[in-house]
Amino acid sequence: MECKICGSSDLEVLNIQNKYYHCQQCEVIFIDPAEIVEQSEEKERYEGHDNNHQNEGYVRMFKDFIAEVIKPHINLDELNNGLEFGCGPGPVLADLLQSQGLKVDRYDPYFFPEKVFSNKNYDLITSTEVFEHFSDPVKEMELLTSHLKEGSYLAVMTSFHPGPEDFEDWWYKWDPTHIVFYNQKTFNKIASDFDLDIVYSDQEKYILFKA
Ligand SMILES: [Zn+2]
Ligand SMILES: [Zn+2]
Repeated sequence: MECKICGSSDLEVLNIQNKYYHCQQCEVIFIDPAEIVEQSEEKERYEGHDNNHQNEGYVRMFKDFIAEVIKPHINLDELNNGLEFGCGPGPVLADLLQSQGLKVDRYDPYFFPEKVFSNKNYDLITSTEVFEHFSDPVKEMELLTSHLKEGSYLAVMTSFHPGPEDFEDWWYKWDPTHIVFYNQKTFNKIASDFDLDIVYSDQEKYILFKA
């Protein structure tokens, strides 16, 4: 087994509920591929979520994301377009950004499967509660960065893992479609591999890259 992010074979096995690997180099934690749930099951699970504007907590989550990750670091007035990558069934964040005057494309492999981003580059790509679902994060990063303009932004929300000691009781991994977990060191490695700067990180769930 090799690390999904850095390719190292220096992996610690965490045998808890499911089998996970913890990379000793980039510190990513990922589930054993044999334990990944089927795609049909995954879609059902997303549909069960109340991911729409009626759910106040869900809207709040994106308002916080905009207030903390986007607004302090990016002048939306200077951007021409954005992409919400993995928006789910109710593209709340895309709607919120659009209401601030940004034209936002929506893509989701299950709910908005048209590859609207082909032949397009963006000033801002947002990807919230998506990175933890990637079975091949490097491939997804290759795709995302290939659609970023020079000087543009990739804003990500995914919960940083608490370290192997506290992983067993960590709620975020209970969702069976959550299969890969990052921390600051993992994102530093990703930034350096993809030639990105890290503009902001709260070391908890938000990270903002600049191309
Ligand atoms: Zn690694
Ligand atoms: Zn998720």
